[in-house]
Amino acid sequence: MIPPLNREFPPVFDGHEDFITQIKPRRAIFGPAGGRDFLEDGSGPAEDAHIEQSKRGHVDLPRAMRSGLGGCFTSIYLSNERAEYNALAYAMDEMNDVFRIADRSEGRFHICRTVSDIRAAWAVDAFASVFMFEGADPISASLKELRVFYEAGLRCLAPTWSRSTIFAHGVAFGGNLPETGLTDLGRQLVHECDQLGIILDVSHINPAGFWDMLAESRNPIVATHSSVKAISPHVRNLDDGQIKALAGKGGTIGINFANLFLRPDMQGNTDTSLDVIVSHFDYIVNLVGDEHVSFGTDFDGTDIPAVVGDATGLPVVLRALKAKGYSDASLERICNGNFLRVASQVWKA
Ligand SMILES: [Zn+2]
Repeated sequence: MIPPLNREFPPVFDGHEDFITQIKPRRAIFGPAGGRDFLEDGSGPAEDAHIEQSKRGHVDLPRAMRSGLGGCFTSIYLSNERAEYNALAYAMDEMNDVFRIADRSEGRFHICRTVSDIRAAWAVDAFASVFMFEGADPISASLKELRVFYEAGLRCLAPTWSRSTIFAHGVAFGGNLPETGLTDLGRQLVHECDQLGIILDVSHINPAGFWDMLAESRNPIVATHSSVKAISPHVRNLDDGQIKALAGKGGTIGINFANLFLRPDMQGNTDTSLDVIVSHFDYIVNLVGDEHVSFGTDFDGTDIPAVVGDATGLPVVLRALKAKGYSDASLERICNGNFLRVASQVWKA
């Protein structure tokens, strides 16, 4: 039985979730087959939260509904092996898996392409899933695939993950990647996304690419899952200049819940405090205002603080923000208003 959408807070639209890499049906070409069913509550016994976490994952439809998690950019993420071997086929494979979740959900999981679609999903207590590519590896130099994926529902695109594509270079987690910005094809990709109505995402791109994207696009740009470099100096986080520039262009930043990106010591320990999580929201609000910060949890894509645990920890974070004095209007912007504002400006009606 899938519960109704929890309305303690406005529905959260999360900037980044990786659940499709963990759910059934998962192909066994690289890595083990199997995984959880997104339609079933996988939370199970929590005696040993750390060990159980890999089996329980962070999110599924029942837990999303119980938590007030109303939807997300559903990431089509490709491992390095998949990206190199046949990115196009694997992207279609993952998108097909998402469509199959919707098919089996009895109307509780919607594939959304417009802001109205998202609001319509929430009106019937359904999860609003919007396709995003975490890396444009499935797009060739002709860009012809982009239009087809747009028609299938692609509404947000990061030119690269933390590797290189023909369009751009990411920030490396280890080893070296070029520090140059967008390639000529990358500039064409940005223009084509503007033309079609696809939101551009700067999470994972290197600083030179970040600045090129802001210069080339006429639209607001988002960081779907990045945190604050002034608090945690990780390469994946944004510095003050980048935060101000994204805000100046009308964008928003989804706070990433990876311990690595939250903690001042950049360690993976899961004992990250609620105060540290809240400090990332506070920092952006103080720097550029509450119109430019959102959630970008990275659920099922990283290790998150034990105090959050899984999707059901979202209300814990929201209660902490409320206790700090965030108004209802401010929480509404953070929960979904900021992403929906950008979407309403970039997507075609
Ligand atoms: Zn990512």
